[in-house]
Amino acid sequence: MTAPQSRYPSCALCGGTFVGGMRMTSQYKTGVHPYRKRLWANPLSTLSAVVCLGCGHTKLFADELNRLRFEAEQHPEHFDW
Ligand SMILES: [Zn+2]
Repeated sequence: MTAPQSRYPSCALCGGTFVGGMRMTSQYKTGVHPYRKRLWANPLSTLSAVVCLGCGHTKLFADELNRLRFEAEQHPEHFDW
């Protein structure tokens, strides 16, 4: 049986194959917040993860990218560039 073709480029560290479709989880809703703003109960965006099957290298992606873009447009002072 052959592994399915990954939609992610090979790992830069070991040349391994990335798999996706995973979400960052914890007891609380895990995600990103601008730290110049008061911490909200819910993150500005939750995170999805892709993990290299060769070495475990993990990359995170923001799920609510449009929300992040909108917030960055409306409140650029909350972000570093
Ligand atoms: Zn790797």
